[in-house]
Amino acid sequence: MPMSKLHVFLSAAEIEALNTQLAARITHDYQDVLKPGEALHVIVTLKGAVFFAADLLRKIDLPVLVDFVRVSSYGNATQSSGVVKVIHDVETTPIGKHVLILDEIVDSGLTLSVLLDRLNALQPASLKICALLSKPSRRQTPVEIHYLGTEVEDKFLVGYGLDHGERYRNLKEISVLDSSP
Ligand code: 5GP
Ligand code: MG
Repeated sequence: MPMSKLHVFLSAAEIEALNTQLAARITHDYQDVLKPGEALHVIVTLKGAVFFAADLLRKIDLPVLVDFVRVSSYGNATQSSGVVKVIHDVETTPIGKHVLILDEIVDSGLTLSVLLDRLNALQPASLKICALLSKPSRRQTPVEIHYLGTEVEDKFLVGYGLDHGERYRNLKEISVLDSSP
């Protein structure tokens, strides 16, 4: 079996700096939008965004409600299949809520566009997207990312929630996976 090489793309410290900036913007923007006692309704995309969400949410100085959705578009390949399936749906209702979707990376945009359509149909008070990473060159569907950590080129990344065949999610840094011999 060929050995895969990892080249660090974002260190743990660089990821933390992006999270700090994102959390400050989100806290700032929503503090006057939320009514007293009202929570920001956060929907985390499983499984990849769990690590990002855990770090980001602890830096957000607002009441939050956390829910999860699992949408699959990737399978085990490194190319998106273009087929999006809801495997685990949200457990709370977003009706009338200020909803923020957290995703670790936006690639084709298919996953988020399906999620946006489903959630918009439930008439949230507002619906925004926060993503740590975006690969704009891969977009098949336009998606507005309101809070973005950073853009990346078209490389397959692993670590900090990003997997390859379910491996590498627990790496502290985000690396380019180079599986060439
Ligand atoms: P999209 O629907 O935007 O094509 O795909 C989004 C999902 O594909 C991401 O949430 C992530 O799970 C997966 N994905 C996209 N790019 C990468 C990548 O570079 N590495 C890994 N491991 N997963 C990716
Ligand atoms: Mg994801």
